[in-house]
Amino acid sequence: MLAQRTALLKGSGTAAARAAAKEAADAGVQVVDLTAGEIWTDLAPTIRDGAIAAIDKGINRYTETIGLMDLREALARKVTAETGQAWGASEIAVTAGAKQALFNAAMVLLDPGDEVIIPAPYWTTFPAQVQIAGGVPVHVDTRANGFVPRIEDIVAAITPRTRAIVINTPNNPTGTVYDRTLLRALGELAIERDLWIIFDECYRDFIHTDVGHHSIVSVIPEARSRTVIVNAFSKALALTGWRIGYLAGPDHLVRSVTAVQSHTTSNPNVIAQHAVLHHLQNTDGTFEARLQNQLTAARNMGLGVLSGLSRIPLPTAMGGFYFYLDIKNLVAPEPWNLVIGDRDVDMLVREMIAKAGVATVSGTAFGDPFGMRLSYGIPWGRLQEGLGRLVGFLNAWSYGATPEAENKEKESS
Ligand code: PMP
Repeated sequence: MLAQRTALLKGSGTAAARAAAKEAADAGVQVVDLTAGEIWTDLAPTIRDGAIAAIDKGINRYTETIGLMDLREALARKVTAETGQAWGASEIAVTAGAKQALFNAAMVLLDPGDEVIIPAPYWTTFPAQVQIAGGVPVHVDTRANGFVPRIEDIVAAITPRTRAIVINTPNNPTGTVYDRTLLRALGELAIERDLWIIFDECYRDFIHTDVGHHSIVSVIPEARSRTVIVNAFSKALALTGWRIGYLAGPDHLVRSVTAVQSHTTSNPNVIAQHAVLHHLQNTDGTFEARLQNQLTAARNMGLGVLSGLSRIPLPTAMGGFYFYLDIKNLVAPEPWNLVIGDRDVDMLVREMIAKAGVATVSGTAFGDPFGMRLSYGIPWGRLQEGLGRLVGFLNAWSYGATPEAENKEKESS
């Protein structure tokens, strides 16, 4: 018998999508995999040089639990430049990716039963970590408002147990970028109702809109003492496997994070820390700019292909590297309330892998039975091929016209 908490957790939906793509590939289907939350590119030369130099020096020991002091100082300078406010090393903790930063935040902020507001669709790990920490995720649906949370909906979700709100901009999976007005309103609400803000800006370098990315602490400095900024190099430098992220927050929070991390993972990998430090000290921005240009070009090409979709609105894709499709018209012909929802989009996604060889992530992984996420971080030719197949498949797809759907109808009748 395992602990009760295991019943709360399903494996990550995005990992399940990757596994389904691999299964189809193993069965001989030529799959174009649009599931991954990472970018296909070379390693940044500064990262490689920094890592090799650290190895050549024979570096092999623990560092401070929350990261090398030089790295925390470099990160404090980065956050200072990004927010226009002074930050010090005592306000920074280096973590094994943004995921650990978020996990640490949940562990130090939540008591059992505390509620955390998470706009939906959401990146699947947010609610899972809240639950691991004993808290309760409370979702606020943003779908009717173009994936932008409405303040009145958030106010309505607040209870005496609400402890924090998660703000993820640019958003995974929707690609929405929150403007200054919204960030200000969210910050004011957090102050008024005494809430923490968990501000995940992992995709801040990938912006495809004039709205621009704004740190919530720049927009509303009074909210800084209740904000945990979370970021990583996983996306910005296409370094997912190296596991370096960080959080920035008040000193007392960072001290508690140090205690949690000292009993879980200890310091992030020392060679990866040196590599990122070397990068921060030596980068001229060329690699970052190339990556951003690569994604902008992929986005533009991808939107061109997706404009061929006949019944699905073109995604806004304002930030990050995802196209988020609203496939309501396909899986839920009106009236929508006749439709079972979840199973339909999962079924469609599975069928598209098997028949068209295109793997995507079902919106159900993000709390949305009418969504589908496509990553455009893959090589150009594969992306073009995959999106072309996807458009052909979805344009031809009709509800109830597949063997799986027919079986479903039999089951439900
Ligand atoms: N936050 C968001 C919004 C993400 O999409 C991801 C990765 N998919 C993470 C955090 C975790 O990033 P990392 O790989 O640095 O742990």
